[in-house]
Amino acid sequence: MENAIFFSICSLCYSILIFLVFFSKERLENLENKIYKTLMVVNLFGLIIEIFLGTLASKYLVNINYSFAIVILKLILVYFIAWLLTFTFYIVVISIKDKIKSTMKREKIFKIVKNLLFVLSFISIIIIYCLPLDSYREGGAAYTYGPAADYIYVLTIVMLLIWVVMFIANYKNIKSKKYIPVFLFIILGMIVVTIQRMYPELTLIIPMQTFITFLMYFTIENPDLKLIRELNIARDQAEKANNAKTEFLSNMSHEIRTPLNAIDGFSQLILEENNIDTIKDEARDIMAASQNLLEIVNGILDISKIEANKLEIVNVEYEPAKVFDELVKLTKARIGDKPLEFKVNIAKDLPEYLNGDYVRLKQIAVNLLTNAVKYTKKGSITLNVDVVKKDNICRLIISVKDTGIGIKKENLDKIFTKFERLDLEKNITIEGTGLGLAITKKLVELMHGKIVVDSTYGKGSNFTVAIDQKIVNKVKTIKEVKEEKPAKQVNLKGKKILIVDDNLINLKVAARLLLSYKIDTEEVSSGFDCLKNIKDGKKYDMILMDDMMPKMSGVETFKKLQEIDGFDIPVIALTANAIAGMKENYLKQGFNDYISKPIDKKELERVLTTYLNAKK
Ligand code: ADP
Repeated sequence: MENAIFFSICSLCYSILIFLVFFSKERLENLENKIYKTLMVVNLFGLIIEIFLGTLASKYLVNINYSFAIVILKLILVYFIAWLLTFTFYIVVISIKDKIKSTMKREKIFKIVKNLLFVLSFISIIIIYCLPLDSYREGGAAYTYGPAADYIYVLTIVMLLIWVVMFIANYKNIKSKKYIPVFLFIILGMIVVTIQRMYPELTLIIPMQTFITFLMYFTIENPDLKLIRELNIARDQAEKANNAKTEFLSNMSHEIRTPLNAIDGFSQLILEENNIDTIKDEARDIMAASQNLLEIVNGILDISKIEANKLEIVNVEYEPAKVFDELVKLTKARIGDKPLEFKVNIAKDLPEYLNGDYVRLKQIAVNLLTNAVKYTKKGSITLNVDVVKKDNICRLIISVKDTGIGIKKENLDKIFTKFERLDLEKNITIEGTGLGLAITKKLVELMHGKIVVDSTYGKGSNFTVAIDQKIVNKVKTIKEVKEEKPAKQVNLKGKKILIVDDNLINLKVAARLLLSYKIDTEEVSSGFDCLKNIKDGKKYDMILMDDMMPKMSGVETFKKLQEIDGFDIPVIALTANAIAGMKENYLKQGFNDYISKPIDKKELERVLTTYLNAKK
């Protein structure tokens, strides 16, 4: 191999290497990177030409056809022009990019500079092809000289001057940046050009340019794009979650205020009212509003449980006919005096006993039926329950059809997203949180079932749920038949209960509820008073204990109670703290049972009969 082109071949290896490194990673599509890509390509092109001229061309081309050889030789000058002007563009960009704050203005300036450099390179190419060029061979390589080559020297010097001027003019701007090495290369470049001029056989320029291109690699912006993209996605998600939370809070405060307004308003009316029938009517409205409020709170709790992956399916034995019976009653009550016909078709071959989570099953159906009532002004609502039995599995197919407002095709996917409500401008008067269907879908999934919706906008919707439940083969025991008889008001006359709650209204409500069972109650407003009464030897059949009390919580009081010798009174946690897993938590602490506030009469009755009768 000829010594003279040894440099160039090494440079080609470097150039290919840097090419591979650069393109093996995703890059920012910014102007600097674009220019750098061009420089690399131009540099590669120059090296190939130089090696070509240094080997084949020097031996054959020059001798074979002189004028054709000159055309080829001038290609190296084209390369010089391309590299010089691209590099100049790079210097201009890095020198002034931080100086001009407005992106539009900056882009405009860059465009003008680019166009100017394009024109200059075009003119330069014409000039070098017009000017004569000579060549001579020495040491096996071909060298060029003459006016065309001189033009390139002049152009190089002009460009070098521009770089130096740019550098000095923007020194402050550049000083602290990583571009300092680039300007050191410029000085190096000036030295190399001078040496090359004096010793043309050294072929130093292109390897030097490769070296500059190589080192520049370390100055270009090189962030990990994958990481940036992931961070952007995470930021977007966080922003979305934040927006959803804000929207949720404003939605919730509206939802909560609506029933509160009814409760407050009717309570004031009751105070001014003497007619007992009107009072009862208004009390019923208060109850309905409270129920609505409770549903909202329960919805929030369910969603929080879903998000914490704490929503659990509790399978127990149940009688499906009873569940559907309750559903029908509830829906009829919901329909009230709305002009809606309610049709019910329940499969005759519904098994007597099933095993599954009937509470959640009911919740699913209630959500669908409530929506049907809410979103249907007139016409009908149909509840269909079909069964498909196979071995010991019974597939319950529950469908709720309505002749209501319907859902547009493009919105069908959205309805299962939490907080998503459609046609809000139209449905502004319809209460809702947009949580019902999100919860419903999750529950169906947790029960390994399926939910599908079919709807025609303006005509009505049909929601169908299919859930498998285990069939329990057994005959009703006499006890169960007995229990089915309508329960009489439980009479627990003579029993005494201590109620512990720091909230006076809550104390009053609990005492009033217990009064209807003819139970004797005593109310205290702190854990300390509770402990004092027990230590004083007062006798009770049960303690209803609130948890969230100042100074001493219900749990702390309970622990202290257990330390008292001979203490064996059932203690029931009576608390509004109903977040995920609370019931289990209270039971684990040692409480005998748990009732959530607001108190459900049925729950209270269950607890009273369980613990008071058992004590007899
Ligand atoms: P919401 O509390 O708003 O009723 P859901 O999650 O139960 O929340 O329902 C989400 C949205 O789906 C509703 O706001 C409503 O726009 C639409 N939707 C649900 N059920 C029906 C139905 N039976 N008919 C028409 N639109 C419905």
